Amino acid sequence: MECDVVVVGAGIAGLVAAERLSRAGCSVRVLEARDRVGGRTLNADIGGGKIVEVGGQFIGPGQHTIGRIVTELGLATFGTHNEGAHLLELGDAVRRWRRIVPWSGPVASWSFVRSRRALNRLARTVPPEAPWSAADAARWDSETLASWMRRNTKSATARALLGTVVRAVWSAEPEELSLLHALAYISAGGTLQRLAETRSGAQQDRIVGGSQLIAQRLAERLPTPPLLGRPVRSITQSAAEVVTHTDTVSVRSGYVIVALPPMPAARVDFRPAMPAGREQLLARMPQGATFKYLAIYDEPFWRRDGLSGQVASDRGPVGAVFDNSPPDATPGVLLGFVVGRHAHRLLRWSEAERAQAVRDCLGRWFGPRAARPRQLIGTSWTEDPWTRGCYCGYMVPGAWTSYGPWLRQPHGRVHWAGSETATHWYGSMDGAASSGERPADAILAEIGASAA
Ligand SMILES: Cc1cc2nc3c(=O)[nH]c(=O)nc-3n(C[C@H](O)[C@H](O)[C@H](O)COP(=O)(O)OP(=O)(O)OC[C@H]3O[C@@H](n4cnc5c(N)ncnc54)[C@H](O)[C@@H]3O)c2cc1C
Repeated sequence: MECDVVVVGAGIAGLVAAERLSRAGCSVRVLEARDRVGGRTLNADIGGGKIVEVGGQFIGPGQHTIGRIVTELGLATFGTHNEGAHLLELGDAVRRWRRIVPWSGPVASWSFVRSRRALNRLARTVPPEAPWSAADAARWDSETLASWMRRNTKSATARALLGTVVRAVWSAEPEELSLLHALAYISAGGTLQRLAETRSGAQQDRIVGGSQLIAQRLAERLPTPPLLGRPVRSITQSAAEVVTHTDTVSVRSGYVIVALPPMPAARVDFRPAMPAGREQLLARMPQGATFKYLAIYDEPFWRRDGLSGQVASDRGPVGAVFDNSPPDATPGVLLGFVVGRHAHRLLRWSEAERAQAVRDCLGRWFGPRAARPRQLIGTSWTEDPWTRGCYCGYMVPGAWTSYGPWLRQPHGRVHWAGSETATHWYGSMDGAASSGERPADAILAEIGASAA
């Protein structure tokens, strides 16, 4: 089999790249390990013509690339339900709040706001496309976000509150993240509020019919459908061509775009080997720990109690909750993220223990009815062999400054895509989309063509 470009991975990044190259007249083959497209986006059918999204789903203002693609694909959006009081659980105390800041008393709330402001101010000095070039990059990459919080967030309650935000945004603990990475990530999205919030933030909007439609519609536009169930095992290149090998087919091409998360990408056997710098970088990019649960009820009964359905909790194991009902609010759906240290714990538990813990959390916040959903759908993305952790890969201390410049540097005829290679909205669906456009344009420039 032969073509101009092989794309490895049929997530949003790979399919955006493939569609752009096809539109410019290139012949493209997409090789995908799973029996479906969409990668970290996935719609689950719950009957009655309704779906829930078990992977990435929210988009928001400032995410221009995914916004443009959603419109081009003829998809509609609707606002995430955000009316009513939110709940904040720190330790054993649960508070309702409606103000601009999660309310945990004047001292803690003020300390939280000051820390958030300070992080935003530092982030403004970090170029998201080259975090290693920030004036204070070496200092910030030599510590974790947790050590910065211990020095700068004086109130222990505020630290607990900031911890719930960090876990919800990065699906990792503050102790795991390089401070420089946290700042680069904030810089790539704008501000910490933009990353964390619903109104005017990254959780503002959803896609009617579910986010997997993005990948499905992109795939439908390809002249040759993606080859599904074809995990790529090795990629061999010479000066003249690249050969991509699966268990059953090998494809010769002029170029390859590898559009995989960091951990699956590190498992592909490259010949010649990936440059040592990129291999070392991937070894310093673990992926977040996430379970996503969808609890389905006949109706969103919490709205009648004046609740928005949104919860932030440091007690867990569910750490963040949203009202994830469809536009017509039938059925009612609560989405619960188990992230960071709570997800580390759940990995040691059986399916039944995990589900019971999620039901207990929902019952604690929304009453006994919430503990008895008519259906509970759970996805453990950390245990999924073709993803290996979500929402995305992050950098541990030292990674950006030691090896950052290797992230997007092509390896001969092999180019890199995937949301972790994005320069804006790192780790998101928007980042995935722009990360697919970049190598597609680079290849078109090399062969003297241009994007249609
Ligand atoms: C639970 C969860 C919640 C999230 N929430 C949001 C959100 O609300 N908003 C948002 O913007 N983002 C969110 N994200 C992140 C977002 O979904 C991802 O960043 C984005 O979808 C990644 O797209 P991608 O194309 O870069 O990678 P992927 O979607 O991971 O695509 C990579 C593809 O490569 C395939 N693959 C892997 N190994 C091989 C191999 N060896 N050979 C061939 N194919 C292979 C995989 O099967 C997959 O299809 C969330 C993610 C998760 C999991």
